Amino acid sequence: VKKLASFASFAFLGCAHTMGGQPSPEVQFDTTAVDDILEWCQTSTGAPPEDWRASRAYTLTREWAKWSGMPDPDRDVEQVLSQIHVQKIADPTSIPLNRVERFLGALLEGREGFIHDATPHLAAYLPADTPIRGQVLFAMFIPPYAFAWGDGSIVINLTASYWGFEPKKVLHLLMHELFHNGYGLHQRGSSPMEAASGSALVESILWQTHNEGLATYIGYRARPPDLFIEDYALIEDAVTSAQLFEKLRQLIDEASAAPPDGLEPLKRKTLTLGSEERAFYVVGATMALRIETLLGRATLVDTIKKGPRAFFDLYQSTNPTTPSLLPR
Ligand SMILES: [Zn+2]
Repeated sequence: VKKLASFASFAFLGCAHTMGGQPSPEVQFDTTAVDDILEWCQTSTGAPPEDWRASRAYTLTREWAKWSGMPDPDRDVEQVLSQIHVQKIADPTSIPLNRVERFLGALLEGREGFIHDATPHLAAYLPADTPIRGQVLFAMFIPPYAFAWGDGSIVINLTASYWGFEPKKVLHLLMHELFHNGYGLHQRGSSPMEAASGSALVESILWQTHNEGLATYIGYRARPPDLFIEDYALIEDAVTSAQLFEKLRQLIDEASAAPPDGLEPLKRKTLTLGSEERAFYVVGATMALRIETLLGRATLVDTIKKGPRAFFDLYQSTNPTTPSLLPR
């Protein structure tokens, strides 16, 4: 049985290892949450392990679900583990998550090259001296394919169909998630679910459009030619992009005029339009593309210090064909 390294740190610290005067990257890969499950899959009997519940990856996923207004994600994990258990009893020679284990192995092998390639690109799109760091925590059977948490943790769901078991796709998206870690040091933001007023909901929408938009744009600028990413196709689809601009404009308009007791349906709409329909990602990235093209990278990067409203104002100052996203 090949036991994967449960914890591996790639910290380049000290002057000898700094890269061309850039801040030292500190990116760790942590497989603690999935090790027990993968090991259990290779044994012939026994009930599913329980330790995953207490691991950081799954603890953060529960927090993320609350933040996103989603139900308890542990149920999904329990359900899949009991299905695997049934499969193992029916066929003791099967190794149910063999493919996941190989996928994880390829990711661990690719991390050093990733850090080498991604660091200069990230540094170019973050304010000077922003540390590039993150603890990458692997999980399985959770609802999102990946998310970044405010404490520098990045959770990657190895079994998400989104990845198609392509290590290149995970490592590419890791850049997006590491960008969030850097951005979060400058602009904290808050959950739309916690907004107690229309204006608080608007602030959350602007923050997410800025944050997700820049993260998506930075990935887009470094997109490998042989990798298909849905959001990038939407950025290049002028019709869909214009529709998302208009829907987001309407949502911001409605939220800014909403009384506190009318916020619930708008919070739902924020999640549906912003995350599921990709408005935060596509609109924000399209805005970033226009700002960099017309005003330069330094001006775009400066919005990370100035905040989401500066980003929206700057975009409007370029006289785009779309109507203003901010309420008059
Ligand atoms: Zn993101």
